[in-house]
Amino acid sequence: MKVRSHVSMVFHLDKCIGCHTCSVACKNIWTDRPGAEYMWWNNVETKPGTGYPTGWEDQVNYKGGWELTQGGELRLRAQTRMSALTRLFYNPNQPGLDDYYEPWTYRYRDLFDSPQGDDQPTAVPVSLITGQPIDIERGPNWDDDLSGSPLYAEKDPNLDKLTEDERKMLFEIEGISMMYLPRICNHCVNPSCVASCPSGAIYKRGEDGIVLIDQDACRGWRACVTACPYKKTYFNWKTGKSEKCILCYPRLETGQAPACFHSCVGRIRYMGVLLYDASRVEAAMKVPEAQLVDAQRDLILDPRLPKVRAAALDSGVSPEMLDAAERSPIWRWVKEWKLALPLHPEFRTMPMLYYVPPLLPVSGRVGQAMYEHDTEELLSDVKKARLPMRYLASLFSAGNVGVVGEVMHKLAAVRIYQRSRHVGGDDPERVARVLRDACLTAEDADAIYRMTALTDPSERFVLPPIQREEAISGADNTPCSVEFRKGNCGLGQTVSPDRGA
Ligand code: SF4
Ligand code: SF4
Repeated sequence: MKVRSHVSMVFHLDKCIGCHTCSVACKNIWTDRPGAEYMWWNNVETKPGTGYPTGWEDQVNYKGGWELTQGGELRLRAQTRMSALTRLFYNPNQPGLDDYYEPWTYRYRDLFDSPQGDDQPTAVPVSLITGQPIDIERGPNWDDDLSGSPLYAEKDPNLDKLTEDERKMLFEIEGISMMYLPRICNHCVNPSCVASCPSGAIYKRGEDGIVLIDQDACRGWRACVTACPYKKTYFNWKTGKSEKCILCYPRLETGQAPACFHSCVGRIRYMGVLLYDASRVEAAMKVPEAQLVDAQRDLILDPRLPKVRAAALDSGVSPEMLDAAERSPIWRWVKEWKLALPLHPEFRTMPMLYYVPPLLPVSGRVGQAMYEHDTEELLSDVKKARLPMRYLASLFSAGNVGVVGEVMHKLAAVRIYQRSRHVGGDDPERVARVLRDACLTAEDADAIYRMTALTDPSERFVLPPIQREEAISGADNTPCSVEFRKGNCGLGQTVSPDRGA
């Protein structure tokens, strides 16, 4: 067993109000400078929708992430490191300005300097690239709240899995549902950005799993932009280097939460440590799509087990990280309650950020029946909400409706139990049966409710200040790579604990 510690985040999507405060906080701190205008290390999308950059989930077009060969091996969907060099001047799989947007500002001076006239002066939009007036046609949150719009929602790549009838039903005016999806780099365990970089400039820190780009080593090949299936590396046109979310590591190293977490209005974010078994990553990433979520869950280790603690200490995990892992809210969401799921696990990068899927689009369809029916009927009601379920499965479980259905069942059971406690009027026998059938105890339901609604910041953010200097002096350099072990210098770029930072 090769134990690694990883900083991880959970987003509770029922709580996100789509206010974009997180995006703005991140932008103000990290990307408010020339060359980074169009970079949104944190962005929030409306789903169904095309997202940012446009259609990023469509890997037929962008060719990000990994795929399994017929022989069952993992290979980058787009290109190897060498072939990336041959596509330097023409890469049809890379998003262009049309897929992002032309950054703009407004000519505010006109508001003050315009000559007196009959009309109110306006500040016209001007391109931040050319300085010339432009018509704004797209932006990072252009499809905000436009669920149901034929321009955006209907072009969501996840809808390809639905039949024509199902698509029609989804866009019936009275059945429209939408949700918000905040996204940052997933700091993947099997990061295709790292494996694709011809310069070896991208690396994953051994002590916390944060994926960083060494700005001195980056040569601007942009292979990572193509290879990241989440499109979370960006090219800075001014410096000629690629950049990405750094998970606010300078803040983490001084015990502070990342800017997006700190500013989150809905308090939807949780942050803590996960321990995982690096020796089994390769096997877990090669299982059939429908088993990917379970395989990823299996890698995550129980920090309370003595043999895990001993192996973790042997592998160089610090005692502080171990203690944090024991109190980790991420562990509870992902492993203990099995309520938080990875985004698009079929990209096979093993993303280490997780999402509690929203119950609202489902309960909206089921309505009051959720509180009135018996367990079997409740389950069948949840299943009847097939469109959101299949849609959510496309987002969070590689199409496995059973995995998402289990999460919905648990969330519905907690809601029914809490309603019976606080409102009353429900048959106690029925409530007990609903909980039992969802594999939950009353204590679980209380703990989930408390974690969802009542936690204070110290329970949502459980991380010791990351001790970078100790990690450098005592790091175990064994990579958790797939390719690296074959001598091809791929994923195992945890190997330079003294780089960057
Ligand atoms: S592949 Fe994963 S780690 Fe790399 S930039 Fe994309 S989301 Fe981040
Ligand atoms: S700040 Fe929080 S609630 Fe607002 S959009 Fe971001 S994640 Fe959602």
